[in-house]
Amino acid sequence: MTRYFPFPRFIPLGSLSIWLATAVLAVALLAAFQYRSGLAQLSDWTRGTDTFLAEKLAQHDAHMTALAAVIRMSPTEPSASVQGLVESITAFYPRVTDIATIHIDGANAHVIAYGRPQGPTVEADLSIGDLPKLGKPGETAVRPIPERHAYDIYKLVEAGRLLRLRINAAALLATDNVPPGYSVSLSLGDAVLFSRVSDQASIVDVKSSLSASNPGQPLHLSISEGFSLGELFPFSLVLPLLLGSAAAVWFGVQYRNARREKRRQERRATLLEQETRLAHAGRVNALGEMASGIAHELTQPIAAILSQSQAARRALTLDRTDILEQALDANIREAKRAGDILGRMRAYISGAEARIERVALSEALHGALRLVEADLAQQAIALDVVIADAPCVVAIDLISFQQVIHNLIRNAADAVSGQPDARITLRAGPQNAQAIIVIADNGPGIDANLLDRIFEPFFTTKPDGMGLGLPLCVRLIEKVDGTIDVRNHGGACFTIRLPAGGAA
Ligand code: ADP
Repeated sequence: MTRYFPFPRFIPLGSLSIWLATAVLAVALLAAFQYRSGLAQLSDWTRGTDTFLAEKLAQHDAHMTALAAVIRMSPTEPSASVQGLVESITAFYPRVTDIATIHIDGANAHVIAYGRPQGPTVEADLSIGDLPKLGKPGETAVRPIPERHAYDIYKLVEAGRLLRLRINAAALLATDNVPPGYSVSLSLGDAVLFSRVSDQASIVDVKSSLSASNPGQPLHLSISEGFSLGELFPFSLVLPLLLGSAAAVWFGVQYRNARREKRRQERRATLLEQETRLAHAGRVNALGEMASGIAHELTQPIAAILSQSQAARRALTLDRTDILEQALDANIREAKRAGDILGRMRAYISGAEARIERVALSEALHGALRLVEADLAQQAIALDVVIADAPCVVAIDLISFQQVIHNLIRNAADAVSGQPDARITLRAGPQNAQAIIVIADNGPGIDANLLDRIFEPFFTTKPDGMGLGLPLCVRLIEKVDGTIDVRNHGGACFTIRLPAGGAA
């Protein structure tokens, strides 16, 4: 399947998505952390401002009390002592911008403003409708003056005499102390006395508010902090975070791959060990089946040795040393042949470790066929062998190769067993730098639905079958970089392909 993906092949897709997820998580955590610390700063500032505001409002109360006392002691106004106190208050507390006394006379109210450089001045009269209604001496009231960013505090000093203090709301808040990213708004009831909006572009806002605890001056302060993109995701932290998470993911992936590789190698080693044991068990099992073949093969050299020994004895009585020599040479040859047969059997069942060697294909096949020929003959199964003359050398472990050929021929024999014209054919030869070995039979073949499954371990259709012969053949052939496949062609037809060279 073709994968259309814009990244180069060396970037593993799995690691990339893990990195992306980690990076997004890390950056999100950073933003959450920034947001939380901004929130904590805002609530610290709100708490600090609350205390600061409470102190200032209490100072206004104290000024009112002191002024009321002095006014009470000054029956006639303008009064020099009131003027003196007002001058010192306005000098020390510039946010108190105006202090006046108001005298109610019928429907009119005369205003005397104190603290002016030229001394107390009589201002234009007010209508008493413009003044708050205060019943008892000592009572206070507040009035917002939004257009001046200020508010007035009124106090009834005694019947018919009021004191008025005007406070600059902006100065009250000491706006220099307000952090640059904060927007603040100070209000009295519905009237906004002062507001400052931060010009910083923000993507998230956090709000906080406080109400002054002074019941005589019920001011309300709203504060909000806006987080800009750069504040939530500071580049100086985001970049190291991205690089750090990439490094962490890279190390993680390397570690995971190393572990996987180790596990794979361990599994492979276990499998190899099992295979070796299985192969050995297979050979020991096959030996039982070959017993009659071995006996058959050995009868020939033993019979030859016997007849040559008899000839030697006769030659001795005739004093024919030439015949004696011939007989002894023949005996040596036959004894060697018998020794070879037994040696081959011993090697086949020994369970010795794989030893890859370069051998001629025909030699390897003849060696393998010798192990089955007698058995097939006994079952009246014909074996056609055609091996090409062209030189063909394969790098194989001879014993494993013999086992593969033996297994395939045994399966073919099982398939054709009992059939009138039972026949197995073996054709082999070089083809395009490969050695091709085809083992076919004229049995019933393999059910088309089962063709894919017969190489699976433990797949068998035989009542006493193990289903391990073919998987083992595949493993042994793959070990020498070969392949094995099957198709139906009359009966079953197995093809082995091995890398091959010209000379041994
Ligand atoms: P086993 O011989 O123990 O069943 P194998 O792995 O050698 O195990 O074979 C698996 C199955 O493949 C056999 O049971 C049989 O069904 C099928 N099979 C193998 N060779 C042939 C063949 N030449 N003809 C028909 N079926 C075969």
